[in-house]
Amino acid sequence: VTRIGVLTSGGDAPGMNAAVRAVVRTGIYHGLEVYAVMRGYQGMIENDIVKMESRSVANIIQRGGTILKTARSKEFFTPEGRKKAYENLKSHGINGLIVVGGDGSFNGALKFSEEFDIPCIGLPGTIDKDIAGSDFTIGFDTAVNTAIDAIDKIRDTADAHDRLFIIEVMGRDAGYIALHSGVATGAEHVLIPEHKTDIDEVINSLQEKEKRKKLMNLIVVAEGDEFGGGEQVTKYIKEKLPNADIKITVLGHIQRGGSPTCADRILASRMGYHAVLCLMEGRNNVMVGIVNDQMHYTPLSKAVKAKQQIDEDWFDMIKILAS
Ligand code: ATP
Repeated sequence: VTRIGVLTSGGDAPGMNAAVRAVVRTGIYHGLEVYAVMRGYQGMIENDIVKMESRSVANIIQRGGTILKTARSKEFFTPEGRKKAYENLKSHGINGLIVVGGDGSFNGALKFSEEFDIPCIGLPGTIDKDIAGSDFTIGFDTAVNTAIDAIDKIRDTADAHDRLFIIEVMGRDAGYIALHSGVATGAEHVLIPEHKTDIDEVINSLQEKEKRKKLMNLIVVAEGDEFGGGEQVTKYIKEKLPNADIKITVLGHIQRGGSPTCADRILASRMGYHAVLCLMEGRNNVMVGIVNDQMHYTPLSKAVKAKQQIDEDWFDMIKILAS
């Protein structure tokens, strides 16, 4: 490769900028020309492509969001859209592409590199931590720390009023943000899509706690849990415990923003650095991951959303530690 493109696609995640910075600087160090493709695949189709210099990525390692912007592109699902995108890359002489995004973005990259002679490398950028082939994804650690920060604040007021708080965190298909933030804030219960919850057992446990005057309780719910998120869980518990003082907080998009944590900056820097090396070594269609602290390369076709089995002992532990 001589000229490479980099883009961010799908849902944004804190740390994407650190990844872009690593790609740009590693590429330039090795004598490559690096181009930023703005707004994901949509910018590729619209030829929104700009040449990057080392200074173009100055002062961004600490910034949330993505300076390249991100988008979802309907046109990229069509062969005509992808052809247009290819012609635009060719017109700039770009012969390698690095895509930071989720599994949808990897599907797009896979399709594209099967149709055209441009090798693609994926970097897992998603707050959900649910991509096969990497222990962590760019953005997860920041999102979970943002959630912890918010839940700690809720705990103060919950404790002052002896209230039960239901807190909904992000995670439509994956419960890692809920699981990790719940354990880290000492939540009494954590409800996630990967684990079946006996809601009546939750009610019983709350009733038992009420008897011994433990009224401050936190329940962390992933938005995609089996009951349909925090509102539904709140409704159900209110029906069963009409006298309890219950409040709900939906954390929402604050979980996507903010300055990336140290862990995310390092993860993104390592992945961005190795993504460029991958292209230089002639690797094609792989996602760069880190497993057991070692670089790990997964074919894009296998870098899918991974619904992992979460050990029952997580839930035993939550119960014991919150008793
Ligand atoms: P997140 O999981 O954070 O939302 P994502 O990368 O999975 O991120 P998607 O919206 O699923 O987000 O995908 C991003 C873009 O990738 C799509 O808008 C589309 O342009 C492209 N894409 C996804 N799947 C395909 C596909 N099968 N063929 C072509 N392009 C695709």
